[in-house]
Amino acid sequence: MNAFSRRGACPALSAPMQTGDGLLVRLNPVDGGFTAKLLIALAESALRHGNGIMEVTARGSLQIRGLTAQSAPLLAAEVDALGIAVRTGVPVETGPLAGIDPREIADPRPLAERIRAAIEEAGLTQRLGPKVSVVVDGGGQLTLDAVTADVRLLAVRSSAGIRWLVSVAGDGQSARLLVVAEGDAARDVTVAALRMIAEKGRDAHARGLSERQLVSLAGWLSLTGSREARPSGRTEGGASRKPIGLFPLAGHAVALGIALPYGSMPAQNMIALAKSALSLGTTEIRLAPGRALLFLGQPPHANQSLQDIAAALGFVTSPTDPRTRIAACPGTPACASGRIATRDLAETIAAENADILDFTLHISGCAKGCAHPGPAPLTIVGGENGAGLVVNATARALPAGYRPGYDAARGISRIAAMISGARFQGETAAACLTRLGPVAIAEAYRQE
Ligand code: SF4
Repeated sequence: MNAFSRRGACPALSAPMQTGDGLLVRLNPVDGGFTAKLLIALAESALRHGNGIMEVTARGSLQIRGLTAQSAPLLAAEVDALGIAVRTGVPVETGPLAGIDPREIADPRPLAERIRAAIEEAGLTQRLGPKVSVVVDGGGQLTLDAVTADVRLLAVRSSAGIRWLVSVAGDGQSARLLVVAEGDAARDVTVAALRMIAEKGRDAHARGLSERQLVSLAGWLSLTGSREARPSGRTEGGASRKPIGLFPLAGHAVALGIALPYGSMPAQNMIALAKSALSLGTTEIRLAPGRALLFLGQPPHANQSLQDIAAALGFVTSPTDPRTRIAACPGTPACASGRIATRDLAETIAAENADILDFTLHISGCAKGCAHPGPAPLTIVGGENGAGLVVNATARALPAGYRPGYDAARGISRIAAMISGARFQGETAAACLTRLGPVAIAEAYRQE
């Protein structure tokens, strides 16, 4: 394990990625989750070999940070010895409640399995870059709308039965719809799209496909006679929720979602929570997109106790917790590239200005913007001049104003005060910010 992956690649167990706080590995168990005992053993391994920070990403992968060139292979060996099979190859992701959600339109797992097999058969695994992915979303309580993918399939009901919307390049909102098809045809058009991406090289993504290619993919099924009319109503299973709180399953069973603040937790806290879950009867802990864990199998009366224990350990147990509105990367001191203490700032802002956080606030240790690559209404970004404030753009944009890094939370308090004074009745803070505009916002941020 001498060659560490470059930034932006996928840091699998066999190819950890260099970050500011050492090497990082990401793992996705084939089963989508662990028994409580396995999670405890894994967290102990993270403590032994890493710096004790564990993360669940926005896509629902588990990350272990702070490994060294010597310790990373030891961790990989221990994961192997624990019998945790991890996913390799092109990620074909399904939701965390796939197959057990009574509200899902279709169980996406069989189709996902067929797509994985077809990708292998077509010899595409080695030809596609590590970040090319497919999502197969069966709908239901926890959809994959927020997860971006190169190809996405979404189950819908039509008069002819279950069909799949196949779209490319984006999340549930932004992806471009190509076709509506039954399972095998949806699989075939998925593989056709991946083949086009592979032909462009290992750095290519679906967003790089030409208009002509997209049109040909959309028309391809009509040539085979498999194309369907688009059914109305995209998400019959209901609007997707954050993976936090209670989710009814079949019978009286319930899944309990608990999130990691900013996606990160000390391994000791993960161990403490998993031990409590074990004693309360949890049989499985699944990783969920949205930086969360889903606890399954415990009797319904145990959920409140588990939530109380999680809250006391610092986990997020309510979907309205203001920390869920803040995207914050590790920043200093965890990441060598960081220029500001992102997590400390986030805690202060969540405690002091929860009432205005009806939008995403991004706090980024540097301009790379790892925690939230897209634009956000407000971004605090660390740089040479301190904590810059970017309005309606990504962390890479030129800040409209600066404050010293240690003092950035006060700048947000100044903006909060301006919003409180200017807000119309019923107006959201986000709408108020848009109305006030970047110049006034930056001025408030800089105010003493
Ligand atoms: S954005 Fe944050 S995690 Fe990413 S490199 Fe910069 S400081 Fe490190």
